[in-house]
Amino acid sequence: MKESIKHVIVIGGGFAGINFIKQLEKDNRFLITLVDRNNYHFFPPLIYQVAAAFIESSNISYPFRRLFREKPRVRFHMGELKRIDPTSKRVETTTGTLAYDYLVLAMGTGTNYFGFNNIAKYAMPMKTLDDAMNLRNHILLRMECAVRATDPAERDKAMNVVIAGGGPTGVELAGILAEMGREILNKEYPELTDIKSHLYIVNSAPVLLPPMSRKAQQEAYDVLEKLGAKIILNTKVIDYVDNNVVLSSGEAIPADTLIWTSGVTAVRVEGIPPEAITHGGRIQVDAFNQVVETDSVFALGDQCFSMHDANYRFGHPQVAQAAIQQGKLLGKNLPRLIDDKPMKPFVYRDKGTMAIISKYRAVVDLPRGFLRGGIAWISWLFVHIIPLISFRNKFALAMNWAWSFVTNDPTLRLILRPEKKERRQ
Ligand SMILES: Cc1cc2nc3c(=O)[nH]c(=O)nc-3n(C[C@H](O)[C@H](O)[C@H](O)COP(=O)(O)OP(=O)(O)OC[C@H]3O[C@@H](n4cnc5c(N)ncnc54)[C@H](O)[C@@H]3O)c2cc1C
Repeated sequence: MKESIKHVIVIGGGFAGINFIKQLEKDNRFLITLVDRNNYHFFPPLIYQVAAAFIESSNISYPFRRLFREKPRVRFHMGELKRIDPTSKRVETTTGTLAYDYLVLAMGTGTNYFGFNNIAKYAMPMKTLDDAMNLRNHILLRMECAVRATDPAERDKAMNVVIAGGGPTGVELAGILAEMGREILNKEYPELTDIKSHLYIVNSAPVLLPPMSRKAQQEAYDVLEKLGAKIILNTKVIDYVDNNVVLSSGEAIPADTLIWTSGVTAVRVEGIPPEAITHGGRIQVDAFNQVVETDSVFALGDQCFSMHDANYRFGHPQVAQAAIQQGKLLGKNLPRLIDDKPMKPFVYRDKGTMAIISKYRAVVDLPRGFLRGGIAWISWLFVHIIPLISFRNKFALAMNWAWSFVTNDPTLRLILRPEKKERRQ
C-alpha cells in the first residue's frame, strides 16, 4: 500500500457502515475494508415481514461482494470482531488480524434479555435475518403440531404466540401475524375448526408504541384489538418456564412461541477504554463521532452515544436515519481530517417516525403533524422501498408486496431450515 493511502477498516455493514463507505469511496486517498460477520447487507425494518412469510429474505438483503464489484478501493473481509488494539492500530477478527489507519465501529445492537436466563435461552429474538427465518420455520412447525394435537390445551399451546414488547417491532409483527392468521388459517388448516385469536402482545408501558404520539398509540391499540390480538399493558414478561410465559402480574400464558422484542444493547467491543462505555453499552463519541479517549477510532449508528447535539443531549434515537446521517457525515469528515481542515459536528435531522399496523393502516409522526390510515400506509411503503440498496431489491420487493397485499396469499410458507436454537418441545 502506498504510504499516502490511508487504510480505513469499517466493522459492520449496516445503515451506518454502508453509507459511510458510499461517501468515502469517492476519495482515492483511502482504501476501505469492510468487516462483517455476514456476507450481506440487510434492512432490519422489514425482517418481521420475512418472519411472517410475507416477503422473501432476498428482497431486503444484498451481498457485499456484489455491492463492491465496481469499487476498486473497497474490500470485504468476512469475520466477527474479537477485539481492537488502539495502541498498535490493529483489529483481531475470528478470521484474521488487520491493521488500520482509521477504524470505524458500526456494529449496531444485540438483543437485551435484561438478565432473564430462560428467556435468553428459549425465546425467539427479532434482530437479524437468521432470527426471522428461524421464527418463520418455528411458527410453521408449531402449526403442524397444532393440527396433529388431540388435546385442546396442547393445541392452544402450539398455536399461542406471545410477543414481548409493544414498540414498533412488536406492533408491526403483531399486526402482520394477526392478519396472516385470519387470512390463511381457515384456508390451509381445515383440521382447525374453532379458530380464535392466539396472539398476545405484552408491554411494560401503559401504551403501545411508547416513543410515538398519543394518536399513533391509540390507532395501534384499536387496529390490533380489532384484529383480535390480546393486548396486555403495564405488564412485563419475566420468565419462560416449560413453555409457559410468566408475566409480572402472576399470570402465565401457555405458549410454544415467545418472541422477544423488548430491548437492545450495543454490541460490546473489547479494547475500547472502559470510560468510553455508557448507557446501554453504547460507545461515547464526540461531536465528530470520534470515540472518546482514543485516537483514530470512530463509532457510528446504534452503537454510539453522543451528548454533543444540542437537541439530543441524552443521545440520538437508535433509528436508521441517525445511522445513515452519521455515516454520510463521517465519510465527508475523514478527508477533511487528513487535509487538516476542521471537521463538521453531527446534527441529527429528524424526518419523523412511522409504523405499519396492518394492511392499509399505518401511523406516521412527522416533525409537524400526524398521518394515519391509507395515506400513512402509502408513505410507509415508499419510505421502506427507497433506502433498499439496489434496484433489483426495490423491484423484487414491490412485486412481492403487490402479490402479497392484493391476494392476501403469499406462497412462501416453506419449512426450509432446521432450527439452530435448543428448544423445549
Ligand atoms: C426488527 C427491527 C425493526 C426496525 N425498524 C425500524 C424502523 O422501522 N425505522 C427505523 O428508523 N429503524 C428501525 N430499526 C432500527 C434500525 O434498524 C437501526 O437503528 C439501524 O439498523 C442501525 O444501523 P447501524 O448501522 O448502527 O447497525 P445495523 O444496521 O444493525 O448494522 C450492524 C452491522 O454490524 C454487523 N455486526 C454486528 N456485530 C458484528 C461483529 N461482532 N463483527 C462483525 N460484524 C458485526 C451486522 O452483521 C450488521 O451488518 C429496526 C430494527 C430492528 C431490529
